[in-house]
Amino acid sequence: MTAWKASRLADTTGPLVEAQVTSRRLLIIEDDPGFAESLRFLLSFNGFQSEIAETGVSGLEMLANGHFDLVLLDLRLPDITGHDVICSACERGITTPIIVVSGESEIDAAILALRLGALDFVRKPIEPELVIYAINRALVQNTLLLENQSAQNQINRSERLHRFLIDASPDIIFILDQNGRVSFVNDRMKALLGLEDKAVLGRHFSRLVYTHDRERARYAFSAQKLSETAMHSFELRLKSLADITGFRYFEVKLAVVGLPEGESGEDEVNQDHYYGVARDTTARREVEALAHYQANHDALTGLPNRNLFRDHLALALIRARRNSEQIAVLHLNLDRFKHINDLFGHAKADELLRQVGERIQRCLRGGDTLARFVGDEFLLLNAFIGSEQDVLQIVDRINQEFAAPFQVADKSAHLSVSAGIALFPTHGDSADELIRHANIALYHGRLSGHKGHSFFMPEMGQNTDQRLQLQSELRQAIDQDQFVMFYQPQVGLRDRCIRGVEALIRWNHPQRGLLQPGDFLQLAEEADLIGSLDEWVTRDVCKTMREWQREGIAPPRVAINISPHHLEENDFVTKFIALLTEYDINPAVIEIELTENLFIRDPSMVARKLQTLAAHGVMIAIDDFGTQYSSLSYLQKFPIHTLKIDKSFVWEIDREYRQHAIIKAIISIAHGLELNLVAEGVETDEQFRFLEIHGCNEIQGYLISKPLQREQLENLMRQGGRFQSD
Ligand code: C2E
Ligand code: CA
Ligand code: CA
Repeated sequence: MTAWKASRLADTTGPLVEAQVTSRRLLIIEDDPGFAESLRFLLSFNGFQSEIAETGVSGLEMLANGHFDLVLLDLRLPDITGHDVICSACERGITTPIIVVSGESEIDAAILALRLGALDFVRKPIEPELVIYAINRALVQNTLLLENQSAQNQINRSERLHRFLIDASPDIIFILDQNGRVSFVNDRMKALLGLEDKAVLGRHFSRLVYTHDRERARYAFSAQKLSETAMHSFELRLKSLADITGFRYFEVKLAVVGLPEGESGEDEVNQDHYYGVARDTTARREVEALAHYQANHDALTGLPNRNLFRDHLALALIRARRNSEQIAVLHLNLDRFKHINDLFGHAKADELLRQVGERIQRCLRGGDTLARFVGDEFLLLNAFIGSEQDVLQIVDRINQEFAAPFQVADKSAHLSVSAGIALFPTHGDSADELIRHANIALYHGRLSGHKGHSFFMPEMGQNTDQRLQLQSELRQAIDQDQFVMFYQPQVGLRDRCIRGVEALIRWNHPQRGLLQPGDFLQLAEEADLIGSLDEWVTRDVCKTMREWQREGIAPPRVAINISPHHLEENDFVTKFIALLTEYDINPAVIEIELTENLFIRDPSMVARKLQTLAAHGVMIAIDDFGTQYSSLSYLQKFPIHTLKIDKSFVWEIDREYRQHAIIKAIISIAHGLELNLVAEGVETDEQFRFLEIHGCNEIQGYLISKPLQREQLENLMRQGGRFQSD
C-alpha cells in the first residue's frame, strides 16, 4: 500500500503543484472537532477554503446545497457511517470526489469505501504533505474525468448529429460495396421509395432502378469504376412503391471513397466503396412539364393558346402548300360579352367561357384547332377548306350550337359569335399574317357595326374613317392631358402596409366620360401612339411622385406599365432615365411592369435594355405572369425583381375542384429565385388566406382596395399607408 502511494506521489509531483487552484472549496465531514480544526488549518495554510460538518447527515445536506470541489470524509461518524454517506451521495447524483480519511485499523473499511466510489484515502494520523498531494491529485483526476466525460458526450452528440443529418437529408444517401451491393442507406429511402432497409441491404443496386433505366445504371456504374477520381452524376428513375407511376426521378451522384475498416485500423482504408447521393428531381420535372403545358395552353379553358395555335397553323400551312389546299383562320369573338361579364361576375363569366370553348369544339372536324386567344376571343383553324361557303357553314354550325342558352348556376344567357376570317392562300401566306388579317377582319366588322362574319379584304389594312377619328382624338388627348392616373395599392400580406402602388391610366374623354384602358389601349397600340402614351404616363407619375416626396407622403414604390412596343423603341432607356433625372426621382422607387411576350421577340435586345435599367436601380416586374410565353429561363437570365401572378390564377383559388397547381408552382418558382411576388386581382378572403398560407408576399386587388384617385391615395398615405385587417 505504501509503495503504491509512493509511486503515485512520484509520478504526480510536477503537474500537481501547477494544477493546484487556490480558491477550491473543500468539505470536511468529521465528528472530532479538534481533528477537524487542525485539518482546516492545514488546508487554509495551503490555500484551500473549507467547511466542517460534524455528522454524516449534515455533511450530505451541505454537499447537496453548496458547491464543493472535494470532500474529506471520516468513516466513523456519530449518526451514519462514512459508507452510508458515500452511497447516499451517489444515489443523489452528487459527483464531488471524496477522499476517505481513515485510521490504520480501518484499512478494510477504507477499501470498501474505495469500492463504493471514494476516489482515494489517506491514513490517520495524517501526514500534511501526503494529504495535500492526495487532494491535488484527486482534483486533477476529477477535472480530467469531467473533461473526458464531456468529450465523450460531445462524441456521442456529434455521432447522433451525423446520423440525424444523414437521416434528415432530403436526398437518399447510400454506400455500395465493390460489387455494387448496397451496404448502407439512410432513412430517406423509405419515405421516397417506400422500401425498408431490409429489402435493400446486401442487394445489387440495379434492383432499385426502374426497369427501363437499368442498362444505363449498369453502364454508369462501370464507367465509375474506370475513372475512380471523379464524382459522376446521372439522371435515373428509381422504383418507388410510394408512387402510382411506380418510379421517381433522381439525379444520382456517385464517387469512390475510402472507408475506415473495422474499429482498430484507422489508417487502413478500403478504397473500393462507392458513396452515392440520389436527389429526388420529380417535383422539378413536374414544374418543368407544367411550365411547358402552361406555355402552350390557356389556363381557363385548357385549350391551346395562340402560341400552340401558331405552331399548328404553321404545320398545316406546310401541308396545304404541298397539296395545294385551302386553310381558313377564324378569329371568333363573343357578341356583347362585356355586358354579360358585368352581369355574371367574373367567376361565372369564366365558367361561361369554358362552356363556350366546349360548344365550339363540338363543331370541329379532325385537323381543326381551336385556341383561346384572349378574353372572349378564340382562334379557329380549319384545314381542307373547299370554298368560302365551307367556312360560313362552320360559323353557322357554331351559332346553331349556341342556340340553346348558356347556363351558369342561377344565371343564363344567349350568346352569339362574330368571326373575322382570313383564307390561305388568298389572304396571306404565313401564320402570323393570317392571324393578323383574321383579326383585322373581325375588328373591321365590329367597327362598321356589322355582326356575324367578315372576310379579310386588303383595304381593311388601311385605316377606316372611324379609326382615324378615334386616333386623332387620342392624339389630342395626349396633347391636352385628358388622362388621369389612378393608383392601386400593393400591400404586404402580413401587415397590410402599402409597399407600392400601380399607376393605372384612365381617359377622361370630353364626350364619353371616364374610359378604362380596355377601351382605348388597343387603339393606341394600333395607331402607334402607345409610346407617346407611356411617356405621358411616366412623366405624370414622376411629377406626382416628386410632389409626394416633397410632402413626405410618397408610397415606397410606384409601378408603371410599359407596353412591349414602347420598350422596343431605340431610345427607350435613355429617355426613361432622362425623365427620372429631370424630376430628380431615385430610380429605385420606380418599378416597370412588363408582360412576358416581350421576351420572345428579341431576347438579347430586351436583356440589354433591362440590364441598363436595372444598373440604374429601376426595378422590373413581370406582369400577368404565367399567362403567356412562360419560360423559366428568362427569369434567371434577366434582372427581374418581381413576379405578378395573374388574376386568372388567383381566381382559380375559389374553385375547389382545381388543385391550384399552377399558382403553387409560381409561388415556388418565385421563392426559388428569391423574387418578390405580387398576387393581382385578390377579391376574396379565401384567396387571401390561400396566398398567405403559401407564402406570397404582396397582394393587390379589390379585397384591399380598388384603384384610387390621387387624392384618395394621398389621404391614405397621410394616415400611415396601412389598411385595417377587416
Ligand atoms: P394590368 O396591368 O394587369 O392591371 C391590373 C388591372 O386589374 C387593372 O385594370 C385593375 O384595375 C384591375 N384589378 C385590380 N385588382 C382587381 C380585382 O381585385 N378585381 C378585378 N376584377 N380587377 C382588378 P385596368 O386599370 O382596367 O387596366 C387594364 C390593363 O390596362 C392593365 O392591366 C394594363 O395592362 C393596362 N394599363 C393600365 N394602365 C396602363 C398604362 O399606364 N400604360 C400601359 N401601357 N398600360 C396600362
Ligand atoms: Ca400591370
Ligand atoms: Ca396584371
